[in-house]
Amino acid sequence: MTTANAYPATQSIRTIGILGGGQLGMMLAEAALPLGYRCVFLEDAPNCPASLYGQVFTSEQLEDFIAAADVFTLEFENTPADTVARLKKMSDDGQKQGMFPPPQALQVAQDRLKEKSLFNELDIQTVPFKSVSSKKELQDASQALGLPLVLKTSRGGYDGKGQFVVKTEADINEAWKALGDAVSGKGNLTPTPAPLIAEGFINFSREVSIIATRAQDGNMRCYDLVENHHHTGILATSEAPAVGTSHLLPEAKNAIEKLMTHLDYVGTMALELFVSKDEDDNDVILANEIAPRVHNSGHWSIEGAVTSQFENHIRAVVGLPLGDTDNVHPSIMVNVLGQYPNIADVLAIDGAHYHTYHKEERADRKIAHITLMPNDVSDLDPALEQLVKVLPNKMGLDS
Ligand code: AMP
Repeated sequence: MTTANAYPATQSIRTIGILGGGQLGMMLAEAALPLGYRCVFLEDAPNCPASLYGQVFTSEQLEDFIAAADVFTLEFENTPADTVARLKKMSDDGQKQGMFPPPQALQVAQDRLKEKSLFNELDIQTVPFKSVSSKKELQDASQALGLPLVLKTSRGGYDGKGQFVVKTEADINEAWKALGDAVSGKGNLTPTPAPLIAEGFINFSREVSIIATRAQDGNMRCYDLVENHHHTGILATSEAPAVGTSHLLPEAKNAIEKLMTHLDYVGTMALELFVSKDEDDNDVILANEIAPRVHNSGHWSIEGAVTSQFENHIRAVVGLPLGDTDNVHPSIMVNVLGQYPNIADVLAIDGAHYHTYHKEERADRKIAHITLMPNDVSDLDPALEQLVKVLPNKMGLDS
């Protein structure tokens, strides 16, 4: 890996080119503006959330997009690796001022097998797993790992898509039928043929994530651990900080720091973790996956941290010093899925902050988020109860 500080901080950066134009791109642009930077976006959906903040170029206009920006980053990890590699090369050749994060981070994040192998290589514990390229290998994996197991596409899945829980031997045929095509690249499950990954099914007690930002000089700042709850595979809420996890924070920090250093990472990254028990009934953390970008479980940081994950990402990309990541106030971030609530009902809740993504309503689509940060921490749970009452999609939070 190359050493850090490859690209000097420069006053000549004016425009940041972002690969992707979804809500993450939009919130990056919101953070960039006060620092004096404009953003442009590479995105095929012309009315994407980021379009309110800067010019959008389609993939057919790639050359114009490249010409329009000085430095590059991404907000979507399934970005074509060749574009990222090209932008990195242009930066190494001095034509541009950086592509952050580097291509190797993307390669790891785009492939669950590579990702989990890297975790283990760096002594970061994971669930047990096996590569699966045939039905026979799935049968062997079920013997080796035991049942239940989770069969996942190693590439291309998101929000729980491309996954199958194999509970009994009888499920093996169906699981192979559902996901086996990914191995040959048939169907539309993955962009390229790739083996599946079989993972031991973990009875975790909690799902948490840690977010950190690494600067071009190697300096790193970590946010507190956050507790995440999902509904039908989609993030529903993140509580920051995760209550009662301070004993897990040093190990989580150590894990993300090792990963970022190894990948020569620049920018904000998230590491998703399961909290489980070891043989002695002690809490342990098992790494599940990284996101080489700002992350939904870090949206609370816009109001809840001294410096948000978005601002720190921008600072890293343009070569500015990173900001303090301390939590200024406990908060709960709630995703709005599918249908908008009445904004007046939401803002009637003290300490509620509303962030719409200007998207059209569609079942289970992330279209906004709300961060609850009442002044008195004891009002957090009542505020959540109040919010759930006015959310059209309650994401199981009412039960
Ligand atoms: P992922 O796409 O890997 O983030 O998985 C989506 C969700 O499925 C996770 O947030 C977990 O709730 C669940 N899950 C994934 N892998 C496992 C596993 N090995 N054991 C138990 N649950 C899992």
